[in-house]
Amino acid sequence: MNASPPLIAQADPGASYRALKAEIDAAVARVLASGWYILGQEGAAFEREFAEWLAAGAGPMHAVACANGTDALALILRGLGIGPGATVATVSHTAVATVAAIEMVGATPLLLDIDPDVYTMDPDELAAVLEDPPPGIPPIRAVIVVHLYGQAADLLPMLAACTRAGVPLIEDCAQCHGATLDGRRLGTFGRAAAFSLYPTKNLGALGDGGVLVTPDGELAERIAAIRQYGWRERYVSAMVGINSRLDELQAAILRAKLPHLDAGNARRAAIAAAYDAALSGGPLAPPARRPGAVHVFHQYVLRSPQRGAIMARLKAAGVGCGIHYPMPVHEQPAYAGRIPLGPAGCAESSRAAREVFSLPMYPELTDGQVERICAALRAL
Ligand SMILES: *Cc1c(COP(=O)(O)O)cnc(C)c1O
Repeated sequence: MNASPPLIAQADPGASYRALKAEIDAAVARVLASGWYILGQEGAAFEREFAEWLAAGAGPMHAVACANGTDALALILRGLGIGPGATVATVSHTAVATVAAIEMVGATPLLLDIDPDVYTMDPDELAAVLEDPPPGIPPIRAVIVVHLYGQAADLLPMLAACTRAGVPLIEDCAQCHGATLDGRRLGTFGRAAAFSLYPTKNLGALGDGGVLVTPDGELAERIAAIRQYGWRERYVSAMVGINSRLDELQAAILRAKLPHLDAGNARRAAIAAAYDAALSGGPLAPPARRPGAVHVFHQYVLRSPQRGAIMARLKAAGVGCGIHYPMPVHEQPAYAGRIPLGPAGCAESSRAAREVFSLPMYPELTDGQVERICAALRAL
């Protein structure tokens, strides 16, 4: 009997540290020696550098760093004055964080269904609920569009529908750092955008972190105050705030990693192309690409009604897979039966949750590991 091959992990945040160890260790040592650990020069420099990288010359963006991606979404909603008495439309097929952020500010989530090919919000259902809101819920005051797995949602018709309804569109960019639509980076299209910097995201801290961006300087300034007790002046709250700060260690680590993000995304795209080629002619279709969009492959997601059997065969070949996500938000015990759904009833979201699975995907996968995964895919 052959011993089973060592399992290739589906995600490996430690590999991203080892790849940049010297630069990250130097950044950490610099902060430890500085004597300043929260909201200092490193955080301000990270905000500046991230905003410049994201805008890439396409007009100024303002960035506010905070404690995590969930808070980044909640801070945007608070900054826009959205809370009790407002509904925020989003999707059920997402990280639960998107929906948790809406309830954190006291607003009501309305969960819409997805386009089953690209797994992002169905623009027709959004247009329908903005024109004719479901009865018995507060008025829709914002929409959070999630660019899931690293690829743009069908943004342009949704932006048009939101403009018609006079409702701000907020981008959840937790999975799409660096992805573009029509040559422009995601996060620059809406009223504001939230990024998670969780260790496994395309730009990840070595702990928790988040950052939000907006072209509106006044909104950014208000949110920066809300992030720290509503202070504009130390010890004097000008408004009601929270505490959601990014620490200097994480900011310095992120500054070391940001210059490598585009190369990391290019490596993810090359791995995705290898997986596509290995799947061709086989039973599974590679992930659909939206025309005009550059996908940054936070996850490489396949689907099959035989998911369990396929994942077991891949595991036996040493390929670790994940499921993002096994249960749509509207079916989870904390939310089931309590959260209003759009007219489509999230049927495609429920089906996707039963069928999707994700292959290993991170820039540090070696060519040898990628070839082993491809061989397992060719054998399916
Ligand atoms: C990771 C993630 C978040 C939340 O980020 P945290 O930093 O974990 O709070 C929000 N939305 C989506 C789509 C995510 O993937």
